[in-house]
Amino acid sequence: MIPILMYHRVNDTAPGQDLYPGMSLSPVRFEAQMRYLAEGGYRSLTLSQLAQIQNGLMEKPRCAVALTFDDGYRDNHAAALPIMRKYGMTATIFLVAERIGGTNDWDLYEDGLAPRLMSLNEIHEMKMAGIEFGSHTLTHAALTRVSPEEARRQIHDSRQLLVNALDVPIGFFSYPYDLVNDAVLEMVAQSGYEGACGASSLPQGPFNRWRIECLGCDSMRLFRLKASGLYYHLMWLRDRTVLGKALLRAKKRMRLWM
Ligand SMILES: [Zn+2]
Repeated sequence: MIPILMYHRVNDTAPGQDLYPGMSLSPVRFEAQMRYLAEGGYRSLTLSQLAQIQNGLMEKPRCAVALTFDDGYRDNHAAALPIMRKYGMTATIFLVAERIGGTNDWDLYEDGLAPRLMSLNEIHEMKMAGIEFGSHTLTHAALTRVSPEEARRQIHDSRQLLVNALDVPIGFFSYPYDLVNDAVLEMVAQSGYEGACGASSLPQGPFNRWRIECLGCDSMRLFRLKASGLYYHLMWLRDRTVLGKALLRAKKRMRLWM
């Protein structure tokens, strides 16, 4: 199975400064990962390309990963893009449609510390470099916690807004906070999307594609495991088996890594 890797930020944010530990990867670490992929003969794919392979419309490369970024941080353009270009990599970036050019205002950052998001010009530049874009709602809404009408608006209108602003098809969606249930999944499927990235706590499917998060603290050994696809099997064991669930609960209690 071709792994879908998930990133958020690529910058030198000091450890502990992110609200979510590990969501920033230093450019040096990100470059080491891209170099590993390039030297290992991995091909990077957008989610559209991955879907084409899965639908038999494109030949499956010997080694491949799909790279994705959530939220559309400005450092994706400033730091990640030059590195991806250097190693011939592409990616899919999920944008918060009504926050383009603004800041992350959905997490509780202190005044003035909220990370900046890409402007429309920066997004256009990335588009010209072959980067694909998807929707991550209008405002980074927690879709299972808002009314069905609001969830539908966030899913449907964000796609329309991005199609109009970027003049490209928007085929993929990612659920903020990985919050998804059957009703939300159905809304995405009926809103013109081709697929979505979701949570490993629900079964895999075109509208709940599992992703593997790459964290700032990951060692290269762990990254190699994540890029190999073997990690999916570990995720399945962890999230979908009785023993795995028990270990996960134990890990939360004991703060052990698994
Ligand atoms: Zn997000």
